Amino acid sequence: MMGEIKDRVCEHVDRMETALREVSASIHANPELKFEERMASEILASRLRDAGFEVALGAANMETAIIAEHPSVSPGLTVAILGEYDALPEIGHACGHNLIAAAALGACAALSAVKAELPGKLLFLGTPAEEGGGGKVIMIEAGVFDDVDIAMMFHPASHTIVDRGSLAITEVRIEFTGKPAHASGSPEKGINALDAVIQTFNGINALRQHIEDGARIHGIIDNGGAKPNIVPEFASAVFYVRAAETAYRDELLDKLERCAQGAALATGATLSFQPVGHSYKAMKPNRALGEAFVRNLVTLGEPLCPPGDRSMGSTDMGDVSQVVPAIHPYLRICGEDVAGHSREFAAASISEAGQKAMLVAAKAMAMTAVDVWTDADLAARIARVFAEE
Ligand SMILES: [Zn+2]
Repeated sequence: MMGEIKDRVCEHVDRMETALREVSASIHANPELKFEERMASEILASRLRDAGFEVALGAANMETAIIAEHPSVSPGLTVAILGEYDALPEIGHACGHNLIAAAALGACAALSAVKAELPGKLLFLGTPAEEGGGGKVIMIEAGVFDDVDIAMMFHPASHTIVDRGSLAITEVRIEFTGKPAHASGSPEKGINALDAVIQTFNGINALRQHIEDGARIHGIIDNGGAKPNIVPEFASAVFYVRAAETAYRDELLDKLERCAQGAALATGATLSFQPVGHSYKAMKPNRALGEAFVRNLVTLGEPLCPPGDRSMGSTDMGDVSQVVPAIHPYLRICGEDVAGHSREFAAASISEAGQKAMLVAAKAMAMTAVDVWTDADLAARIARVFAEE
C-alpha cells in the first residue's frame, strides 16, 4: 500500500511538471534579495492555496514567510517541507533557491492529493532570507517549529550527497578608534586604527596554523581610513568565523577577540568587537531520515556521488536541525568545476539538469514523508538518532 501511495505521489509530481518548471523559472527570472522575496512568496502562497492548503503569508512577523498547513490532519507526526527563495546581490539565483522553492511546492502539492489517506500533519514552510538573514532562526524563535517532528528540504549542488553537514557561522564586526594626526608632519601624535586592523589580520594568520581542519576565518576591511596623509582615526573589518561544531566556532570567536585585543594593546587604539548579522548553528543531519531519503533517490534512479572530503558552507537549516530531526540533502545540477555563488551556478539553476533535479527532489521528499508517516520503526529510529547525536 505504501508503494502504491508513493507511485501516486510521483505521478502527481509528473502531472505538475510544467507548472513546477514555470514556478522555478519565474522565481529565477526575478531574483529578490533577503526579506524582499515578495513575488516569490506570493506565487508560492497562491499555488499552495490552489493545492488546498491553508496559507498564512507574512508568518512569524516576516512579510515574505509562509506557513501553509494541509487541512487533512489526524494523530501522527508533523512533517514540514521547507522552501527558500531568496537570491544573492548582483549574481541573482546563484544558490539555486528557485529550485528549492519549486521542489518543496511540488512535494507538498503531490502529498496533498493523498494526505487524506495518511496520518499526521503536513506543513509547507516558506523560509525567507537564508542568505544572511536567518529566516529559519526567526521562525524557530517565533515557535514555528515547536510542534514539528520532521523537517526537510533539498539544495542544488555540483554533487548528490545526502548527509553532508554545514558549518556553524558567526559574523563579527571589529572596529578600532585611534587618533588622527598629520601622517608626515606629526605622526607621533597619532594612533593608527588601520594598523590595529592589520595587526588583527596578522594575529589571525598566525593563529591559523593551530586551528582544526575545516574551520574557516575570513574577513574583509570595509573601512581603512580616509587619506594617506591622515593617520587613520577609524578602521573596521568584518569577519565570518565558521566551524563544524557550534562550540568550536565559539572557541574560535574568543581567540579572534584576543587577536583584536592584542592589536588594540599594541597600537593604543580602542576596540569594539561585536557579533552582528547572522549566526547559524552547524547542521546535524539525521542519519535515519537521510537513509530513507537515499532509498527513495535510488528508487528514482538518481546516482549518488561517492562520499569524500567536501567543503561545507553554512545554512540556517543548521539551526532547524538542532531543534528537530532534519535533512538538507544536495542534488547535482552541474559539474564539480562549478562553484556555488557564481554566475555559472546561476545558469545551472535554470538549466535542464537543474529543473530535472528539482522534480526528483520533489518526488524524493514526498516519498520520504510517506515513509515517515507509514513506517513506525523508521519514525522511532529517527527520534532515537536525534536524541543520541
Ligand atoms: Zn543556498
